[in-house]
Amino acid sequence: MSELPLTGGCLCGGVRFELGAAPQVAGYCHCTRCQGRTGSAASAQAFVDGGALRFVAGEAFVRGWRHPDGGMEKCFCRECGAHLGSRDPDTGVWRALRMSAFDGDPGVRPSFRAFVAYAAPWEPIPDDGLERFDDARA
Ligand SMILES: [Zn+2]
Ligand SMILES: [Zn+2]
Repeated sequence: MSELPLTGGCLCGGVRFELGAAPQVAGYCHCTRCQGRTGSAASAQAFVDGGALRFVAGEAFVRGWRHPDGGMEKCFCRECGAHLGSRDPDTGVWRALRMSAFDGDPGVRPSFRAFVAYAAPWEPIPDDGLERFDDARA
């Protein structure tokens, strides 16, 4: 078990956070927005209790981008471009952190693959037995 708080941040070190509650669920997203923002076939993210997330440095570096058609606000460091997580666009509450944003092992492991109907044609979805959803996780 990883010690709390979990810590993390961006590539340049400008943004630093602490998460005081261990994430319980994680998954891969294969949607085209995640492909675009990560430059890869899927994004691994942990779903978090936004109330347990605290920025200890550089919250002013965090930029969010909202798709005009809705969905979670995708947040990243405006200096280095590292992806940090997603916020609820209505409340501003953080709902997910990218697995890559944690310094160490966040403890949780991806248990599903979402939006597989939109998966990149150039990379087969791994045959790893994880639960799959054509769209959002049911
Ligand atoms: Zn940065
Ligand atoms: Zn996605």
